[in-house]
Amino acid sequence: MEHPLIELSGLGHRYGNVVALDNLDVNVPPGSIGLVGANGAGKSTLIRILLGILRPTTGTVRVLGHDIPRELIEMRARVGYMAEGSTLPLDQTAADFMVYAAELAGIPTKAAKQRASDVLTLVGLHEERFRALGDFSTGMKQRAMLAQAIVHDPDLVFLDEPTAGLDPEGRDEMLHLITRLGTFGIHVLVSSHVLSDIERTCDWVVMLDGGKLLRNGPIDRIVSSNTLELEVLGDSQAVAQALRSRGAEVETQPTSLLVTSPADTDTDVLIRDALADTHTGMRRLTAKQTSLEDLFLESGDA
Ligand code: ADP
Repeated sequence: MEHPLIELSGLGHRYGNVVALDNLDVNVPPGSIGLVGANGAGKSTLIRILLGILRPTTGTVRVLGHDIPRELIEMRARVGYMAEGSTLPLDQTAADFMVYAAELAGIPTKAAKQRASDVLTLVGLHEERFRALGDFSTGMKQRAMLAQAIVHDPDLVFLDEPTAGLDPEGRDEMLHLITRLGTFGIHVLVSSHVLSDIERTCDWVVMLDGGKLLRNGPIDRIVSSNTLELEVLGDSQAVAQALRSRGAEVETQPTSLLVTSPADTDTDVLIRDALADTHTGMRRLTAKQTSLEDLFLESGDA
């Protein structure tokens, strides 16, 4: 794809006096994108603006290179949407509903039937296609919603809290499906307040907090840190002191030291130098992964 997936410039939105989005400048590359933030952070507002359902108060928006709202129709043809908590026509069979959704997207009847069958297979509902949607479990309903969102073979699909209300098994199935969408050439923007879902499915994260941009970047860069956990054979306090004198931040744990080097310094090298200084051996050295949860807690403290 030659364009960024999404480009926001000076994007802001207010509902009366409530600032829902505050001056966002964000470029997002193709891939699977996690939009994370606590309830009220502005995720749904942003998705509705990206879909052209809601006009922003300020700023400009491009989706798949299309200016919104100027090229809304072109964008809509290439985008799918699974709204949070949306409802299905419970008296229809999955097959009928999917054919209807495909025809609504402009696909001729014969091709619509084929496409309906393909997407129901993709989400694991082929066997159940002649059952009424009202008889489906919550997880099956969510998968039918996902099938509906991709029935017209979009380039990008927006999934707003797709795991809401699912039990652990339903959640696993949904997350697995989301990761598979990429293999069909469908880019994904998935919003969630459950950070571990995003860590499992996305390669890029946009974090919102109170309408402001908290982070925007590749997930491995955002969740990895230059903190290492060191267990020494000997006097850990002496090692801690040597590390600090070399500029590291050291947090003393009951059986280990958490060592963070200054930016552009290799923590590993710094530790080896400090061990050599103090003639101390090393029992173990492991990378300390920061989770998205940790990042949220950090920003909350700030
Ligand atoms: P999220 O999807 O992250 O939970 P929302 O985009 O729904 O966040 O909401 C962002 C902020 O805007 C919240 O403070 C919310 O109360 C407010 N808000 C959302 N929709 C409306 C609305 N229609 N009218 C007034 N305020 C709204």
